Amino acid sequence: MRIKVDYELCDGLGQCALVAPEVFALDDDEQLVVAPDPAPELAGKVAAAVRACPVRAISVEGA
Ligand code: SF4
Repeated sequence: MRIKVDYELCDGLGQCALVAPEVFALDDDEQLVVAPDPAPELAGKVAAAVRACPVRAISVEGA
């Protein structure tokens, strides 16, 4: 599973990190950090994060 975030759209408020903290996190500069290749069993949480993103900045390939 490969996750892409459109940083032009991302507001950096971290709803995705609340839904799927194993995959998404905010660093000290409130820049979103994404796990490069999350385990397949996290696909449900990643899908929930995609739905939670208010600006639809997250896309997933190979889920
Ligand atoms: S939920 Fe979307 S806009 Fe918010 S931090 Fe995550 S990727 Fe960025």
